[in-house]
Amino acid sequence: MRKAFSVVMSGICMMPLLTACTNHADTMKSADVFAMDTYMNLKAYGRDAEAAVAEAEARIMDLEQVFAVTNETSDIGRINRANGAPVTVSADTVSVLQTARQMAAESGGALCISLYPVLRAWGFTTGEYRIPADNEISNLLKYCDDTKISAADDTVQIPNNYAIDLGAVAKGYTGDAVMEIMREHQISSAIINLGGNVQTLGSKPDGTAWTVGITDPSAPDSLLGTVCVTDCAVITSGNYERYFTGDDGQKYWHILDPETGCPADNGLVSVTVIGSCGARCDALSTALFVEGTERAVQHWRSVGDFEMILVTSDGELLMTDGIAADYTAKKDMPCRVVHHNEEP
Ligand code: AMP
Ligand code: MG
Repeated sequence: MRKAFSVVMSGICMMPLLTACTNHADTMKSADVFAMDTYMNLKAYGRDAEAAVAEAEARIMDLEQVFAVTNETSDIGRINRANGAPVTVSADTVSVLQTARQMAAESGGALCISLYPVLRAWGFTTGEYRIPADNEISNLLKYCDDTKISAADDTVQIPNNYAIDLGAVAKGYTGDAVMEIMREHQISSAIINLGGNVQTLGSKPDGTAWTVGITDPSAPDSLLGTVCVTDCAVITSGNYERYFTGDDGQKYWHILDPETGCPADNGLVSVTVIGSCGARCDALSTALFVEGTERAVQHWRSVGDFEMILVTSDGELLMTDGIAADYTAKKDMPCRVVHHNEEP
């Protein structure tokens, strides 16, 4: 299922709209791209903005080919069809798999990129949705364990009957790759939106912070609030992004709990992670969504290199103390700020 442009743009909006540059030597270049099954927008300011954006677009298209799970000749396609044999892949694939492996360990298995066979059984990979039987799920879960993925040098190996997908991390990694290109072109001010994952470089050309919208999970065409940020990624995982309603009237969403093989239902409907590395923030947003409120707060306290905004299924907003001052509410809801040194 493709995300509608309106939903994506309202999901995480870039606002307010930017006006003229303060440095007259700078130019602004903006581009819309459709890749990785989603709409993307790139915007850069600088003398070399046009070349930077063109190179970034080409890099996105390349990475799409490398990561696409449905493409038999992509790195991921070849890994999934190798029947347990080692596969030679690009440095990008090794790097993104290492981030995923690290997050799988850090999150106690909440992030699990080898859940792909279970995602496929639910139809999340094709849009042909169904509710698999319990025994079908338990049989497939035997082949889901990220500790069995090896990724080193230029080689990746997964066991026979295993299959992986990078849906939880690829866009964050791609955002980092785009920002690297921006820096190579001496761009000091850029904002990109890769299907709701926003990454910023520096501040706005007038020197003020970027304003990024946070979607209201209960009304995804509107904003819950905004955050003011510079030089960082703002990445959200939500149960409203991709879901279907079963014959039983229940809503089933695309982020699965590796413990059950069913949509993760641990008290959260949306998780936004704010941090410096897009790939890590993307991996974290999915992992924290699965972990649920209490484990997510413990996770934040134990590593502390990111900030987060959680929306709970009972309608509470919970945010870490490092982002609270930069958050502006657009809707009223009970809000709690969590600190490093307090009882859970
Ligand atoms: P995100 O929007 O970054 O949270 O990524 C969601 C996507 O990650 C889904 O569409 C699936 O392709 C994949 N996915 C779902 N559940 C998990 C999980 N527990 N671990 C890793 N990937 C997952
Ligand atoms: Mg993610």
